[in-house]
Amino acid sequence: MFSKILVANRGEIALRVIRAAREMGIQTVAVHSTADSDAMHVRMADESVCIGPPSSTQSYLSIPAIIAACEITGAEAIHPGYGFLSENANFVQVIEDHGLTFIGPTAEHIRVMGDKITAKDTMKKLGVPCVPGSDGGVTSLEEAKRIGEEIGYPVIIKATAGGGGKGMKVAQTAKDMEKAFQTARAEGKSNFGNDEVYIEKYLTTPRHIEIQVFGDGKGNAVHLGERDCSLQRRHQKVFEEAPGPSITEEERARIGKVCADAVANINYIGAGTIEFLYENGEFYFIEMNTRLQVEHPVTEAIFGVDLVREQIRVAEGLPMSFTQDDLQINGHAIEVRINAEKLPNFSPCPGKITQYHAPGGLGVRMDSALYDGYSIPPFYDSLIGKLIVHGRDRPEALARLGRALGELIVDGVDTTVPLFHALLAEEDIQSGGYNIHWLEHWLETNLGDG
Ligand code: ADP
Repeated sequence: MFSKILVANRGEIALRVIRAAREMGIQTVAVHSTADSDAMHVRMADESVCIGPPSSTQSYLSIPAIIAACEITGAEAIHPGYGFLSENANFVQVIEDHGLTFIGPTAEHIRVMGDKITAKDTMKKLGVPCVPGSDGGVTSLEEAKRIGEEIGYPVIIKATAGGGGKGMKVAQTAKDMEKAFQTARAEGKSNFGNDEVYIEKYLTTPRHIEIQVFGDGKGNAVHLGERDCSLQRRHQKVFEEAPGPSITEEERARIGKVCADAVANINYIGAGTIEFLYENGEFYFIEMNTRLQVEHPVTEAIFGVDLVREQIRVAEGLPMSFTQDDLQINGHAIEVRINAEKLPNFSPCPGKITQYHAPGGLGVRMDSALYDGYSIPPFYDSLIGKLIVHGRDRPEALARLGRALGELIVDGVDTTVPLFHALLAEEDIQSGGYNIHWLEHWLETNLGDG
């Protein structure tokens, strides 16, 4: 059993990991930049180490600083949370070279899935259905145009190293191809240092359905159903729910098994998410995330499991604490991402929190690192909290979400809370009848955001 772990992250996800560790009797070390000296994760951990100035490249992304913090404190393992170094294969390699343990998959799994072309190829070979598109990378405009004609417009050009919604461009017709191709390449190069791109059929009315998988690294793996994350702004999720309102039990069992078998096959270890677009009853693989997702709590709510505890267990070489048969869905859960952003343009709104009150009561979970008087620094992501509600069924979860949002007080900065109040009044949200483009259209019509 680990006696001490270091959490290489900040904000709500750092608290999330510290909470799981504390329940397991494991000591925790927080790392922080000089801008985060007063942050809640620093207060809540048993020990803390300042690892650099505000800029994340010199602090939360500094591998030498994080390894040094481990050595100073005697931490034996590192949990990366999500974002920052969570999908950095080199980080995993360095951790292992120092005789420490990374709480997550192997460097090799991260490398394979981090390159979207290799990931798609690997998944195809493992029997996972994929979006029709180019076989691997596309290097010239002529080739891109030929593939566009072959698979039929609209198509999407994607950077193989892309992420966070960056490096993706849609070409509606052949006329758009040149610009879309060049822009996707340029974004790939400037954001990820890699201009390789590939092409996929652009699906017009899909839902984003992702399957949570979990492996023990010894060839055993399970799936924990799906999450519907179709409500997105600029390809970024804002509202997630489980189970997916459009997915049947039979579909869940079928695609879940395909995913669990695929990751068992590659001896995957820890938590992973296989993302699909879902249209007309078919699933099309788009990418795999080799880490804990922001939206993992909706899965925890309906299955009654602690995914972080499970990650720590398998990293120690222990078996998973559940089998596929143990995993039964109970009710419905919804998460909304609360950002410090000003509507209608979602511009970041850092600043001092003059009053904070978290909602409570049956079926309500608020994961946030906010407190009264806390100053949100301007250097990092604008996510300040996740409100997760759980009900016996979808209508109960929706009613509970409205009730909990009404109790939440975040004064001093603008937040995305008014967006969720407005969304709950929409018939399509109440009925679950939305796809990946629904929110963009709604924002354009209702807020003039575009
Ligand atoms: P990232 O790694 O940047 O998150 P993804 O490949 O996961 O990129 O895609 C993010 C989102 O972009 C999807 O949830 C979906 O909304 C949209 N998208 C991606 N591929 C396609 C496609 N082939 N057709 C339509 N939409 C797509």
